[in-house]
Amino acid sequence: MFQDTASVLFGVEGLQVTDADEGADGTVEVWAVTDYPAAAACPGCGTVSSRVHETVVTRPRDVRRAGDIVDLRWVKVRRKCENRQCPRKTFTEWAPPLPPRCRITARLREQAAHEVTGRGITPAEAARHAGISWPTAHEAFAAAADPVLDQDPAPVAHLGIDEHRRGRARFAVDAQTGEYALLADRWHTCFFDLDGQQGLLGQVQGRTADDAAYWLAGATPAWRDAVRVVCIDMCSIYASAVRRMLPHAILTVDLFHVVQLAVKTVGDVRRRVVRARYGRRGRSGDPEYGIKGLLVRNLEHLCPDQFAKVIDTLDGDRYGQEIAAAWIAKEKLRDVLKLRARVTGSVPCERQVRDRLFAFYDWCARHDDIPELITLARTISRWENEITAAVLTGITNATSESLNRLAKLEARLAYGFRNPLNQRRRVRIACTRGYCRKSRIATARQTHLVTGPQPDPG
Ligand SMILES: [Zn+2]
Repeated sequence: MFQDTASVLFGVEGLQVTDADEGADGTVEVWAVTDYPAAAACPGCGTVSSRVHETVVTRPRDVRRAGDIVDLRWVKVRRKCENRQCPRKTFTEWAPPLPPRCRITARLREQAAHEVTGRGITPAEAARHAGISWPTAHEAFAAAADPVLDQDPAPVAHLGIDEHRRGRARFAVDAQTGEYALLADRWHTCFFDLDGQQGLLGQVQGRTADDAAYWLAGATPAWRDAVRVVCIDMCSIYASAVRRMLPHAILTVDLFHVVQLAVKTVGDVRRRVVRARYGRRGRSGDPEYGIKGLLVRNLEHLCPDQFAKVIDTLDGDRYGQEIAAAWIAKEKLRDVLKLRARVTGSVPCERQVRDRLFAFYDWCARHDDIPELITLARTISRWENEITAAVLTGITNATSESLNRLAKLEARLAYGFRNPLNQRRRVRIACTRGYCRKSRIATARQTHLVTGPQPDPG
């Protein structure tokens, strides 16, 4: 079939461009007629008709051209069906990208959907740009997203579990007691592929052990068997869910949260000591206040002057020595984590890890007059096996945390979600976007190599 240059450039299958003109407000007016043989056949009986009933002009919405709005004027013919028995008296022409009663071209829908899935803008923004309504843009996005989301996740070896809050917690004042009562506090539990290409695997509402176990129970037994390591935050709820549903998997805790707990303990001791010493909270000018930033840093990152400042401040009296004991406990705990293969370059053996943990416990026991240290040691000993496994395997929940950040960003872009299904859809697409884009670029390059012009060897 011959097509003129203008029609090829316009690129809507089944439409032939007859005229194009620049409108007053920067729009481009494109006039087109139908150039699709099947459009002359009656959709009711299939009889090809040549009898014209009337001519109508429709203005379906189309994609922009170089940023300008395209005002498409499609001159359509309404034909009379030539089959007398056909209940359908008349019918209008159609083209594959513009089926009957469709007022938006297929490529405009696809573009709006792709902008949401690929570029990460909101359906509202995509709708504004395309000049269509929010429901249309959202429907296009859902049509593109749902097939991806309906697929069962491929087997993963390292699974991450994390939670994030859905919206804000809501409170109400109890009329009888005058106290605040929690009305709603909604959470999502998310499952992540820690070392593969799948990003967010799934999401369930709630954050109880049953909620997490429910999602794991929905997976096939083969998928569950393939999970070798599960990484969680120091959260006993998820630990119990994993032990119930994945009894064979090694459970590890994220080491960032272990260090965070130790740093918090140092801060707690410092605040209590300062209050005991001065009878008020710390403020700028107090020697302890001056080193609070140095105490949270890693020991190896302190320069000699800073180290001397910490020692001078804490060496003076028993108050300072209490803070120093907590600080040393933190560093002893970090010594355990420094055995990771990422730091040392070789995989440690379990004995080494347990030895260093013992040194930490020993230190805490020798300072059992500091209640915070006892609490810290108790928590660490409760999670000892999981911490040891994390040091030995070197698996962290960093991927989960970074994808959780994306999930929160998505909620902010949407100014919060009313519909949990939409939230799950948007979050899952956002969390797999980077991986989808990477694989798409890879395929595009391959195609180019096969079909593109071959380089001249001479
Ligand atoms: Zn007919």
